Formats: sequence, structure tokens, C-alpha cells
Amino acid sequence: MAVPKRKTSPSRRGMRRSHDALTVEAFSECKNCGELKRPHHLCTACGHYNGREIVAVEA
Ligand SMILES: [Zn+2]
Repeated sequence: MAVPKRKTSPSRRGMRRSHDALTVEAFSECKNCGELKRPHHLCTACGHYNGREIVAVEA
């Protein structure tokens, strides 16, 4: 089995982990109901996209 020759230094470990941060999900406001929705996705609250009803949502 391959074994690391040297212990990873705290600096190296930090450099590796600099790309591990999670990003906040993008969101925008629904033009129909004002609910927060994901951009370029239809609204999960009212089923509208681009001002039109795409999916009927039961009340
Ligand atoms: Zn909506």
C-alpha cells in the first residue's frame, strides 16, 4: 500500500481545504406570488414560470 512520505503540514492541509467551503444556494423572488424560488426554475409554491402557470398546484 502506498504510504505518504511526510505528514501533511497545517498550511498544506489549509490550502487543500480552501476549496471545500459550501456556497449559499442562489434564489430569486417569484413574480407571481413573491415566494423565494431558484433562478431558471419554476416556482414550487404556485407553479408559475416567466409569468405563466406551468404546473397546476392544488390548494
Ligand atoms: Zn410563485
